Amino acid sequence: MKQIYEQFKKEINAYKYALWLMGWDDETEAPKASKAYRTEQLEVLYTLVYKLEMDEKRLAAIDQLAKENLTGPFKREIELEKKGIDQLRKIPQAEYIAYQVLISKSSQIWAEAKKNSDFEAFLPTLEEIIVFQKKLIKYLETDTLKGYDVLLDMYEENMGIKEYDEFFKVLNEKLVPFVLETSKVKQKFPSVLLKGSFNIEKQKQFNHRLADILSYDLKKGVIKESVHPFTSGVVSVDTRVTTAYREDLIDAAIFSTIHEMGHGIYEQQVNPEFDGSILSGGVSMGIHESQSRLFENMIGRSKAFWDTYYPVLQQTFSKELKKVTAEQFHLYVNRVKRDFIRIEADELTYSLHIMIRYEIEKALFNGKLQPKDLPKTWNRLYKKYLGLTVKNDAFGVLQDIHWSIGSFGYFPTYALGSAYAAQIYDVMNQEIDVEQCIKNNDIRKINRWLREHIHQYGKLKTPKEIILNATNKPFDPNYYVDYLVKKYTTIFKAYEVN
Ligand code: ZN
Repeated sequence: MKQIYEQFKKEINAYKYALWLMGWDDETEAPKASKAYRTEQLEVLYTLVYKLEMDEKRLAAIDQLAKENLTGPFKREIELEKKGIDQLRKIPQAEYIAYQVLISKSSQIWAEAKKNSDFEAFLPTLEEIIVFQKKLIKYLETDTLKGYDVLLDMYEENMGIKEYDEFFKVLNEKLVPFVLETSKVKQKFPSVLLKGSFNIEKQKQFNHRLADILSYDLKKGVIKESVHPFTSGVVSVDTRVTTAYREDLIDAAIFSTIHEMGHGIYEQQVNPEFDGSILSGGVSMGIHESQSRLFENMIGRSKAFWDTYYPVLQQTFSKELKKVTAEQFHLYVNRVKRDFIRIEADELTYSLHIMIRYEIEKALFNGKLQPKDLPKTWNRLYKKYLGLTVKNDAFGVLQDIHWSIGSFGYFPTYALGSAYAAQIYDVMNQEIDVEQCIKNNDIRKINRWLREHIHQYGKLKTPKEIILNATNKPFDPNYYVDYLVKKYTTIFKAYEVN
């Protein structure tokens, strides 16, 4: 049985690697005119992979292996494979295909509606997507997983309404009042940072230096550009990142590069023995995001980081940054603004954007909110938690792509990732002096700690086990809120002396 399973795996991997490369190429370098031709080839390959994956001989082999007394990583590998195929079997194929067709068109309808700030134009499509999601929930419900929990569990195993409610309750009680107070803080920055222009070639020089600084391994990865930065990996030896440069914002590319390299380093450090199996790559969206946020915020936005590397950036932009000090730059990259757009949000206010989306999704799936009332609810919650009056739906309920592609249950993992990161950072700091590592230009040491405690496992352990294993405690959101309040109290005080 194992032989049959392995033979299918080998073939599926070859097709998937080709598909992945075509997808990567599509997002980064492929000529525009090749789109239609590539789509035809993609369709053929996807069909071949689907046939192989659903081949009766393969499914029978997995069913049989799942009954055997397996041990070690292979046991977990088969458990995950079995979970995947069992879910697929529960969804009627015709409905699944009809949904795929709907999803392939819906993001364009959303994009058009967003451009015109016209929620009504998107509403019928959104309603159809939600109807399918509700059916999906019914198909996939188990004794322990019901309702919206089914969706939440897809992105983060063992995280359901009960756990997220506790998490967001802490944010609501401790973070919301702190954030609403921020409008009293007068944040001032050198005007060159606000109105400057920063040559993109020079930015690239610095961003490529970041690979070296953070030990993102360029023998196993590359850095390219795309409209929206992302990380994409299939195996530990091929995990690639993209970034996006903005001439008017010196720090936009820097932090998206650091963020994506955090994702990349995670996948590069997974046990190479898992390459080619379901165990390679990150275990969940939340754990993945914890690694990118840890690099982006706890390392990349730290005082130690800019005390150490600001001179390199200053040398690169010797004219522009001549009069800007490392202290001023550190404050600038930690500027706070309660604002409308999630993807542009700062570290302090980011998770409140997520809290709003969670509250909305929960209400949609327990029947307390109808899709047609989404804008009203959205705007009310932005007022309540961020003190903002939403101008129009493009800046409000239509801003994110997720719902248009049926990604319900995904948003909460973004906030969860930041919260995991705070807990991991706290424990890591007790074992190694993180600040000193940064100052000594020895971020390798941080990476080694992360590899040993988190990265090496890939999907071998569940997210819950990873957190328990790395921090000796179950997940506790208080680490996150305490970290934010402490950090930003210091930051805001610094404006008084500067
Ligand atoms: Zn990310």
